[in-house]
Amino acid sequence: MLAATLDAVLAAIEPGIGAIAALPVADTLWRGPEGACEALVDRQNLWRAQTPQGFVFSDILAAHRRAQGQSLTDDAAVAKAAGLTVRLVPGSDAAAKITTEADLIRAESQLRQRLTDVRVGTGFDVHAFAEGDHVTLCGLPIPHHRGLAGHSDADVGLHALTDAILGALAAGDIGQHFPPTDARWKGADSAVFLRHAASLVTARGGVIAHLDVTLICERPKIGPHRGAMQARLADLLGLPLDRVSVKATTTEKLGFTGREEGIAAQAVATIRLPEQE
Ligand code: MG
Repeated sequence: MLAATLDAVLAAIEPGIGAIAALPVADTLWRGPEGACEALVDRQNLWRAQTPQGFVFSDILAAHRRAQGQSLTDDAAVAKAAGLTVRLVPGSDAAAKITTEADLIRAESQLRQRLTDVRVGTGFDVHAFAEGDHVTLCGLPIPHHRGLAGHSDADVGLHALTDAILGALAAGDIGQHFPPTDARWKGADSAVFLRHAASLVTARGGVIAHLDVTLICERPKIGPHRGAMQARLADLLGLPLDRVSVKATTTEKLGFTGREEGIAAQAVATIRLPEQE
């Protein structure tokens, strides 16, 4: 609907001629001092100016330069003041102007209401312990008497989260997007992987509703770092703290994590995408 309005504006523009979207006034209009209903205004040929408003750039630039100091409320008024012709093309109720804070809140709420296609993805990752004096978990260096082996920084938490987001998008896995054979990712900060996955959600017009990661190891103890990890993830992705969860568990000394051979992580991502038309 908005695309049709944009097309109509673009099609109507010529040198010396601009075009704006407008809707016929549907409300009954009264003129009068505050509190008084004195004269009915004939609404025939009255139009409500909207955006988009389009002009040949050099025309509108010159018009704005000429209009300096004048009190004009939109580009159409600036153009008319400069002697340009302005055409009206059919607008759309979806093209609501955002002028006040309340407009912005309403627009954000409308956008969020369109995100009804809820999807969930899971991720799982393991890295083995190796020589080192710290491990990197959920974007933070954690002191430990061993490190984690891996092509990148071996951050199992961020890898599991990245795969969970990619899974929710049905967009492959981390190895496809960042092949371990590619020298570019040697020693890479895994925040790059997570942010890339998040950018794919944004590119689809969606949002990350919630992330939940569980780190599985005997040591290092995660508890003392959990809050900082949660804050780091929220910061990396621009999410509020209550949309990011970091948990930890041991496997009661069973299995490879129990034997302290490595660290595992599993994650769930919930995303909301716009309903496909
Ligand atoms: Mg990994």
